Amino acid sequence: MKKYQHYINGEWTDASSKDLIPVVNPANEEIIGEVTCAKDEDINQAVESAKKAYESRILVDMNPMERAKLMRRIAEELRKVSKEGGALLCAENGKLLAASEYEFIDAANYFDYYSGLTDKIEGQTIPVNSQVMDYTVYEPYGVSGHIVPWNFPIAMIARSLACSFAAGNSTVIKPAELTPLATTSYFAQAIHNAEVPKGLINIVTGYGSEAGAALTAHPDVAQITFTGSVKTGKAILHAAAERAVPAVVELGGKSAAVVLPDADIDKVVNATKVGIFSQAGQICSAMSRMIVHKSIKDEVLEKLSKLATSIKVGPGDEEGVDLTPVISEEQLQKVENYARSGLQAGAKAVSGGNRVDRKGFFFEPTIYSDVKPDMTIAQEEIFGPFLSVLDYEDHEEAIHIANDTDYGLAAGVFTKDVDMATKTASRLNGGQVYVNSWFTGSIATPFGGYKQSGYSREKGQQAIKSYLQLKNVGIQL
Ligand code: NAP
Ligand code: MG
Repeated sequence: MKKYQHYINGEWTDASSKDLIPVVNPANEEIIGEVTCAKDEDINQAVESAKKAYESRILVDMNPMERAKLMRRIAEELRKVSKEGGALLCAENGKLLAASEYEFIDAANYFDYYSGLTDKIEGQTIPVNSQVMDYTVYEPYGVSGHIVPWNFPIAMIARSLACSFAAGNSTVIKPAELTPLATTSYFAQAIHNAEVPKGLINIVTGYGSEAGAALTAHPDVAQITFTGSVKTGKAILHAAAERAVPAVVELGGKSAAVVLPDADIDKVVNATKVGIFSQAGQICSAMSRMIVHKSIKDEVLEKLSKLATSIKVGPGDEEGVDLTPVISEEQLQKVENYARSGLQAGAKAVSGGNRVDRKGFFFEPTIYSDVKPDMTIAQEEIFGPFLSVLDYEDHEEAIHIANDTDYGLAAGVFTKDVDMATKTASRLNGGQVYVNSWFTGSIATPFGGYKQSGYSREKGQQAIKSYLQLKNVGIQL
């Protein structure tokens, strides 16, 4: 069995302990590799290496143009490993092969995008009085700790890493225990091949409760970035509060599409296919709820039922597959339990509701109608190929239902009336609102949550501010 190591101080190294974590292919349940399991000692070593690299000022003092060139070299190397890295990512995560390869391309794009900001981190001069020259400068924090989830293992790292690196921080990354392989091999290899100076980027694999907790608690970690569930996010915020360090938190969602009576129903169906069935619904901003006007409910449900029938279930590396497995047996059981609880609460299955009878963690494309706002399947993040359809009579009611969860990551509205689209968008509590589509964002557009979905914004130009602190300098002339 191939064993994957940590990447610390520019070298692949074993952990201090002999413990290994097996990694399973969700499409066939086979063990495809093992990773070294970090304990406190390994986290200390990685943070020390990042701190030493930071304090050497090799990145901080690097000419911004040179830093940009280094980042573009990383992008180039990431593109070179996208085929092989994508194949390994597909095996450990289960998502489509094309989507797996694209994660490396997406990661490269993050480095290209943020390389454009290295020479645009500008301060101000502030008029105080004629005897004082006062100016501000943005400076990095030092060591930045990044903890990422399993649903976009490579893209989520690149999203925060490229930004934090452009700002001049050094980094320790802890991938999810379920998907560490492509990160600690091909992603690390790209960093290595780009000749990133030793210690600026470190990757340590292990359990969240052990390695992740040790990283967030480490006294030399000056800033934390976390992407994952609300529950863990709150634990991270407590750990950050304990040491009074800033944390970027990007958490879960229960995002609703509001379908107005005049909506183009084919657009609704297309958006549903990408919104809840791509990546088996395991996307933070997935369209997991639909709120449909009663007058078109039957027509929408009929077309959604046809969509579900047309969806081909299978492994990510098989031609023509739409719906890939969920990440683990635990996740599959979780989705199954929600499906059962929904029926018990009185929802109706338009399609699916069961695991697929084959090896691997496959769940049927599932659509439930007659869901009521207080049902668990209307409130909790399921993180599976599971759409809850609710209905409404007047617009205010639809807005109320859409906003009536603890989450506020994304939302959507389907209508041909641009006035109604903007009016509805302004009332929906979500960090991003999609109109007549789903997932319209790009690297350049800010992304983050309202309410318990987190309060940070990643992507776009303003995200770099999360990785910088502001200094004011006053000179008595
Ligand atoms: P998770 O269980 O919260 O884990 C996320 C990461 O935190 C993993 O690396 C995990 O390690 C680590 N971790 C767990 N406990 C920890 C602790 N006490 N201290 C430090 N780190 C700890 O989330 P997940 O199940 O992997 O991912 C799914 C969730 O992520 C969903 O809720 C989804 O909506 C959210 N998500 C949000 C965004 C966004 O941008 N808003 C993007 C993608 C995903 P282990 O793997 O070892 O448990
Ligand atoms: Mg977990």
